[in-house]
Amino acid sequence: PRYTKSDILQKAQELDVKFIRLQFTDILGIIKNVTITVDQLEDALDGKIMFDGSSIEGFTRIQESDMYLRPDYDTFTILPWKPRKGAEARLMCDIYDSNNEPFEGCPRGILKKVVEEARQMGYELHAGPEPEFFLFQTDEEGNPTVKTNDKGSYFDLSPVDLGENARRDIVLALQEMGFDVETSHHEVAPGQHEIDFKYTRAIRTADNIVTFKFVTKAIAAEHGLYATFMPKPIFGENGSGMHVHLSLFKDGINAFYDENDKETGLSQVAKYFIGGILHHAKGFTAITNPTINSYKRLVPGYEAPVYISWSGKNRSALVRVPAARGNASRIELRSPDPSANPYLALAVILKAGLDGIKNKMDPGPQTFNNIYDMTPVERLEAGIEMLPGSLKEALDYLSQDEVIKEALGPHVYEHFVKAKLIEWDIYRIQVHKWELDQYLGIF
Ligand code: GLN
Ligand code: MG
Ligand code: MG
Ligand code: MG
Repeated sequence: PRYTKSDILQKAQELDVKFIRLQFTDILGIIKNVTITVDQLEDALDGKIMFDGSSIEGFTRIQESDMYLRPDYDTFTILPWKPRKGAEARLMCDIYDSNNEPFEGCPRGILKKVVEEARQMGYELHAGPEPEFFLFQTDEEGNPTVKTNDKGSYFDLSPVDLGENARRDIVLALQEMGFDVETSHHEVAPGQHEIDFKYTRAIRTADNIVTFKFVTKAIAAEHGLYATFMPKPIFGENGSGMHVHLSLFKDGINAFYDENDKETGLSQVAKYFIGGILHHAKGFTAITNPTINSYKRLVPGYEAPVYISWSGKNRSALVRVPAARGNASRIELRSPDPSANPYLALAVILKAGLDGIKNKMDPGPQTFNNIYDMTPVERLEAGIEMLPGSLKEALDYLSQDEVIKEALGPHVYEHFVKAKLIEWDIYRIQVHKWELDQYLGIF
């Protein structure tokens, strides 16, 4: 650990911290805050702060709604866009129940369990995300629109792109919070951006993703913009993905690298890991792509994966092997999107890969052709299957995948599926504009 309790108390004083947000996520990945004053910081660091879990999505348990927040000391950081006189800081927390046991509905705890399983096998997962997002204008009431300001209007003589400025300030804020930002750039769609931060251990990466979304939304709002991580906000444009780069380390050495493999540079462990990912891809997609809208991104033509395959070269594959070798050897999983709960997403991805290693799952041959140019028959002959086409289909596959269900545990699995089936049912009975356009005039 980087910080001790007294380090934090001292830092809080030095930085004139008056408020501390104790943060965690619900099962759907929404960030929650319990804000305390600095007078309660010592109690908070001792894990004595309680909250009522009954109002949190997926936390409800009739008898035991008293939950305890246990901060991870190393996540202490101030919120740089807030006033510095009477500053605000935050700590990410694990949730414990009233018997002081890790709460089975805490997504961070779920990831910790799978990370521990990997540790017992001698492995540590490193993950690096590539989250994409849109910056949109807000209307007079401050509500988000889907208007971008990239293509300045006729009357817009200002040379300044509001989006680029906002992105710059997001990067600066992240750096101040200790992020190692590697690149940031405009993406393919108008108003779409990407910020990539350095890979690190899985739990820290999930913390970083949650923090990243929260910072991006806050800074965008300061620029009068709305940041959205909705996977496909505009029909006909690229959606927002969150590719994840993955590698396993064993005793500080990248276990995915094998210099003797001339073709891919990947070790047998890496290939089994890919085998596990491909084997469980249908089962974990409900977690990595958890919204109805997620499936409007996973369609041909927008650089998002559709087919279950792997390749060293081909960017249309679900799993791509970037050219880096040695300690930078890694695989890139391209299906996840930023609406996923990052703790649960990394938990199921890691679980799938570990299952591949345990059961020596062969990933099969790489696909070299552009899969999108193959005919359905050619794909069938090559054994290339498709990702689920809808949230409902994904939930059905999840219900059949015992390994992925085991990673989530029964509590999260049941609450997640229950919430998502309600979402699906509400969506299913709507009459969409497309239907009116399509049918009203004909029938
Ligand atoms: N936006 C694309 C997706 O949905 C990715 C584009 C890219 O990073 N090359 O995954
Ligand atoms: Mg990228
Ligand atoms: Mg990108
Ligand atoms: Mg990528």
